[in-house]
Amino acid sequence: MKKVTRSVLLAMLLSQQVTAQDFCFDEMNYSAEQTTFRLFAPADAKKVVVRIYKEGEGGRPLKTVQMKLAADAVWSTTVAGNLGGRFYTFDMGHGETPGVFAKAVGVNGRRGAILKEPVMTGDWDRKRPVIKSPADLVVYELHHRDFSIARQDAKYPGKYLALTEPWAIRHLQELGVNAVHILPSYDYGSVDETRLDQPQYNWGYDPVNYNVPEGSYSTDPRDPACRIREFKQMVQALHKAGIAVILDVVYNHTYDIEHSNFQRTYPDYYYRKTTNGSQSVYSNGSGCGNETASEKPMMRRFMIESVKYWAKEFHIDGFRFDLMGVHDIVTMNEIRKALDEIDPTIFIYGEGWSAGACALPSERLGMKANIPQMPGIAAFSDDIRDALRGPFSDDTKCGWLGGSYGNKETESLKAGIAGMIEHPQIDYSKVNYSKVPYALEPTQMMSYVSCHDDMCLVDRLRASIPGITEEELIRLDLLAQTAVFTSQGVPFMLSGEELLRSKKGVHNSYESPDSINQLDWQNKLRYPQVFKYYQGLISLRRQHPAFRLGNADLVRKHLEFLDAPEGVVAYRLKNYAGRDGWRNIYVVLNSTRQEQQIAVPKAAYTVMCANGVIELRTRGLERFTGDKVTVAPQSALIMHDSQSNLAIYD
Ligand code: CA
Repeated sequence: MKKVTRSVLLAMLLSQQVTAQDFCFDEMNYSAEQTTFRLFAPADAKKVVVRIYKEGEGGRPLKTVQMKLAADAVWSTTVAGNLGGRFYTFDMGHGETPGVFAKAVGVNGRRGAILKEPVMTGDWDRKRPVIKSPADLVVYELHHRDFSIARQDAKYPGKYLALTEPWAIRHLQELGVNAVHILPSYDYGSVDETRLDQPQYNWGYDPVNYNVPEGSYSTDPRDPACRIREFKQMVQALHKAGIAVILDVVYNHTYDIEHSNFQRTYPDYYYRKTTNGSQSVYSNGSGCGNETASEKPMMRRFMIESVKYWAKEFHIDGFRFDLMGVHDIVTMNEIRKALDEIDPTIFIYGEGWSAGACALPSERLGMKANIPQMPGIAAFSDDIRDALRGPFSDDTKCGWLGGSYGNKETESLKAGIAGMIEHPQIDYSKVNYSKVPYALEPTQMMSYVSCHDDMCLVDRLRASIPGITEEELIRLDLLAQTAVFTSQGVPFMLSGEELLRSKKGVHNSYESPDSINQLDWQNKLRYPQVFKYYQGLISLRRQHPAFRLGNADLVRKHLEFLDAPEGVVAYRLKNYAGRDGWRNIYVVLNSTRQEQQIAVPKAAYTVMCANGVIELRTRGLERFTGDKVTVAPQSALIMHDSQSNLAIYD
């Protein structure tokens, strides 16, 4: 690092004039002869020590070594002897911590681990699945435990390794998804890794060690190498199957302030503060009691280094930023740039909102409305989600699926279908949340109707449509996903929706037992038509570039909405959109309880999807010649007028 005086450096750092490139966080460099430790901590700390332990928890330190101020805000020491297999903590007066950048830890992540040798470096395939455009992604969001805990033939239920098992890979491949988005899988705090014999459940939005895999998903959290190895084996197995791995990252807050590694190494540096009257208080834009300060050089650098580490060390293919609206725009763009240097196909998306008022003005934050300032970064579209299922604020209110046909629902659905871009046929003043098109490109929109948050689709349909029958439930479920998967945005689904998943009406299942959260694999046999339809939808999208044009101009050129009665949204993708093999593709979504008819140009049509059935073989479900088409109640119809296909069979 450059030699500047302590006061100058700290002033620069705190006034955010430096990019922090020359700083290091905590480091542990092991050799058989000696181990060097470094820590980023205030230069005026009274005393900074590193403690060496035999075990990852409990016991007295084998050694306590004082660290010296080596440079401004960097404390350092070298301990002689072979410390391989030992554990360590730093302590600068605010409690013990493995530091903010530990790469291996003991059980529950309380102590850093000194590994004698690196785990699976260089000896596994580095190839990422080839996904040319984010428009080609089909994202499947899963929680390790939900996915595999109730699977009878799972060898490693609830573990990373479940995703290496043939049944799991087969299911994902059969369904056709090409990206798995895993809920928080860094080391988090709410599951006690020493009590894994007892059922415990949490989503994991309570980060402890950002750069280490969570221990409870490994087969042995006490062995620091185990979680790293098994995580890598999971990525390797998914990559071999052509499936990308996207990590849910939660840099916007920590579980609490007092015990956080940030606070215990550099008190108050990493968090935003605000004023309450004359008092300075921690800002709470995350709704979890605090918010990190991405605009500060070292917090910004921490996020950049952390995603780079996951991308390089664990071959992660994408990042989903929790409450991206808490982070500043500059940081998000710097992260995009850093990942571009590794591999520009690494995908970034996030929640374009915060969960409370932040200590930075919203114009500076990674909000959905600011997506135009963040090229190459996508945001979830709550517009299409709530248009379909109803508002997030009230589970009992229905959306377009349940017969709410205001301008708001219809226009939001259309905007969602177009990928939230500017389109001559969409009036954004009528869209529910985004009053201007938020996406410059359709790949900046995540298209979805449900995720881990809120009710899953089945529960929401039940809660918002009184007296709904099972038949209707299935029809509307399939209709909803047809809108999602034929949208020009990037399609995203919650794991288990293909099995007609229910969480028994629980709205926020973040710590609910397995009985609520687990996937019921029997449903795959119980509702084969549901799985088959999801499969068909995904296949339709992957086979037909018209549904994933990936470019706003192409969408404006090829996507045309058609006149349709209330409760029906219809559009066509015209003139071999995206060089599709089909000339003009018609998609008609009917959420009413009646049959509906719409006018189409007189031509010979092949119907590929109707009344809850998709048939992608050339013949389709049916062929007809005419100038109108009838759509069954609460269902989607997809057809094309490509003559070449007809010529073969006529
Ligand atoms: Ca943990």
